[in-house]
Amino acid sequence: MDGKFENDIQAVVDADRAHVWHHLVQHKPFETGEPRIIVEGKGMKVWDQKGKEYIDAVSGAVWTVNVGYGRESIADAVRDQLVKMNYFAGAAGNVPGAEFAEKLIEKMPGMSRVYYCNSGSEANEKAFKMVRQIAHKKYGGKKNKILYRDRDYHGGTLATMSAGGQDERNMQYGPFAPGFVRVPHCMEYRKEELGLGHLSGRDFGIAAANLIEDVILREGPETVGALCLEPVTAGGGVITPPEGYWDRVQEICRKYDILLHIDEVVCGIGRTGTEWFGYQHYGIKPDFVTMAKGVASGYAAIACCVTSEAVFEMFKSDPSDKMDHFRDISTFGGCTAGPAAALENMRIIEDEGLLENCSKMGERFMDNLKALMEKHEVIGDVRGKGLFLGAELVKDRESKEPVSEADIAAVVGECGALGVIIGASNRSIPERNNVLCFSPALIVTPQEVDAITDAVDKALTKVFG
Ligand code: PLP
Repeated sequence: MDGKFENDIQAVVDADRAHVWHHLVQHKPFETGEPRIIVEGKGMKVWDQKGKEYIDAVSGAVWTVNVGYGRESIADAVRDQLVKMNYFAGAAGNVPGAEFAEKLIEKMPGMSRVYYCNSGSEANEKAFKMVRQIAHKKYGGKKNKILYRDRDYHGGTLATMSAGGQDERNMQYGPFAPGFVRVPHCMEYRKEELGLGHLSGRDFGIAAANLIEDVILREGPETVGALCLEPVTAGGGVITPPEGYWDRVQEICRKYDILLHIDEVVCGIGRTGTEWFGYQHYGIKPDFVTMAKGVASGYAAIACCVTSEAVFEMFKSDPSDKMDHFRDISTFGGCTAGPAAALENMRIIEDEGLLENCSKMGERFMDNLKALMEKHEVIGDVRGKGLFLGAELVKDRESKEPVSEADIAAVVGECGALGVIIGASNRSIPERNNVLCFSPALIVTPQEVDAITDAVDKALTKVFG
């Protein structure tokens, strides 16, 4: 680091304000207000430029730092790998890439091949491209449509936005790519929106899945190549699937020969507890699984598009046809830092029993949120799986009218003032960004879960009385 920046935090703040284009936020307020710079992290805690300490209840803002901050063993593994061989791309492989692929596939029975790239969006794009190419290989180009779900998110690139179920993120960025078709969400709390207000439990789950079949029949099954879904919807409001939903979704995919693409960018690598992946809770047999955030907990950029052997088989090239293989490259898919960090990240999760801790702490957190619900009328619903939880705030439990985004921001701000960073469904669904989101690292302790809940309790009291 430049000495000027090392010793003068104000210089960092000034440079940041002058030159960094921050993600997600409106920029005008930065001209007067001071940006928050996170300067250090250890375990569950981070410190800002003023030395203020926070418990990070969102794993680096966007459910990423699954093993917590300051892991020297990951830094060491990455350093050792970088000085030996940092990068080589194209057709060549590398040592940690091979080792991590083998370990990952061990955790994913039924899956077979790992395609490396850098971000969740990119991993999803790889799967979309494969689906399109399969349509050409097997169906004369016809079975090329990709279905995606209302409220799901798959990334910020134009193709993934074309599969984007969060309208507010898409506004002003169209036109989008053709061949992406939306299916309804499966949120039981807002089942009236689906015309399924009279159903509940398994009946609701099956009916919600049947809404996907209606879309397939409307589009023509011979035109639909794949269905891309989050196992538990993340930024769209932490939406856990209703009972019976996934069994029926899979039946529908099999019936119409539709490939199933599971986006595990948030749920993957332990976030939902007990299992390595969200889909594994629901008996799903995917054709594609994409993952990013927790793969290396943010210690290096890495994403994977994992396919079944049956999918890979379709790309085994006929040497006489030079268009037959997957003609794609990701430059930084050749970086070794990613798989080196991912290997150590996985070892930590296994050796420290973090899948189990995630389930246990997730249950505690859920119990705490349910208790808060009894105290605060404004909490209309709490949902989640493992350490992936949400609390939906409404003005009135009967009408379920969402609280304002300003109120949500006030709760997030109050928690920040109390030294706890929480999140919210953010600028994603018009008038529906009313869900507080929690995704602490899988190392969180009971005391920290309680401290997070306590801050939320105080913040709700302050904002809503
Ligand atoms: N898929 C899901 C479910 C996500 O939540 C995100 C990002 O939040 C993405 C894909 C995109 O990942 P990235 O931001 O790494 O491109």
